[in-house]
Amino acid sequence: PSKKEELAVVAPSCGKPSVLSDSMISLDHGDPTMFETFWRGPIGKSAMLVIPGWQTMSYFSDVGNLCWFLEPGLEREVRRLHRLIGNAAVEGYHVLVGTGSMQLFQSALYALAPPIADSPISVVSHTPFYSSYPSVTDFLDSRLYRWAGDANTFDGDNYIEVVCSPNNPDGAIRETILKSKTGKAIHDLAYYWPQYTPITQMLAHDIMLFTVSKCTGHAGTRIGWALVKDKQVAQKMNKFMELNTIGVSKDAQLRAAKILGAVADGYEFQLTIPSGGDVNLLFHYARRQMAHRWRALRAAVAVSGIFSLPGEVGGFCTFTKDMVIANPAFAWLRCEKEEVEDLESFLREHKIITRSGTKFGVDRKVVRISMVDTDEAFNIFVDRLATMK
Ligand code: PMP
Repeated sequence: PSKKEELAVVAPSCGKPSVLSDSMISLDHGDPTMFETFWRGPIGKSAMLVIPGWQTMSYFSDVGNLCWFLEPGLEREVRRLHRLIGNAAVEGYHVLVGTGSMQLFQSALYALAPPIADSPISVVSHTPFYSSYPSVTDFLDSRLYRWAGDANTFDGDNYIEVVCSPNNPDGAIRETILKSKTGKAIHDLAYYWPQYTPITQMLAHDIMLFTVSKCTGHAGTRIGWALVKDKQVAQKMNKFMELNTIGVSKDAQLRAAKILGAVADGYEFQLTIPSGGDVNLLFHYARRQMAHRWRALRAAVAVSGIFSLPGEVGGFCTFTKDMVIANPAFAWLRCEKEEVEDLESFLREHKIITRSGTKFGVDRKVVRISMVDTDEAFNIFVDRLATMK
């Protein structure tokens, strides 16, 4: 093949289209494509990575580490970023890497479930809960754990409570609601980053899950990490990863390390370009874009008059040291019109694909809509919403 054809073979795909044929738009998935504009800016180059053919060949990354397949460079950047943002404690924690944080979620279920029990342990979460929790929990019909629905109605002392904060789908700040001493918790902190919410405290829970998907927008890199306090739990989670995928792609880890490093460099060296602004400051840039979208959405909802959204919440952000309003990654949109019983179908008739409240353990008059998709899809969405009566 010619040089040109060789390059074409490795050219990346361009992802999922959000504007489909017949002007249907899809805001069902939380595909964080809106951050692409930031990475196309000057910082994009500093996150570039070249891996020669002879590198990353071994299964092993650091045989002396509990997580022997974790690239030391990724661990360093994870710890550095948390120290910079102040959103989660890292001292005394084990860092584990996963193929996305959903793999780590499964490893945490495996690690927390008692190995010998008469019946599977119940996995619960406060409604509305992230739609993947029930499906991922029950997917393999495990004898170790079983989805048991809304934590509010759960009665018992043995359980795993999944806490997502800020919550997918409604952006609420959450804590465990079950308080038994024998209960266990998994904190999914995918959205606890400054573009979505003020950072109000440094969290220090037993198991905290994060992902580059939502932090920097690199969902396709498939890298998540867990901060785990207890060594035995960390070892069991690691065992799951060993049995499941014999580790995690080193190439993806190196890329994630490079990306997280570029984000931290943007702040620590305050990289500025002559025109100034926040083009190298991911969280400032992304917060500004998200805030702009939320203003546009609230304006469209006001013009339409048939919808409602959760109220605005804000607080003092210890990272940016100012009062800010939260910009959740999803709009949790309710229809106030009596005739509309199924909002997902109603919006589909208007060529907008969303995810029904029923998938999150609640009713059909509410849907989840991604706020992190492309400008094109988002702009069509708010324009269409404003015209609905
Ligand atoms: N947790 C939550 C709350 C999420 O919204 C998502 C992605 N939609 C994930 C986990 C999965 O993240 P990852 O891409 O790292 O598997």
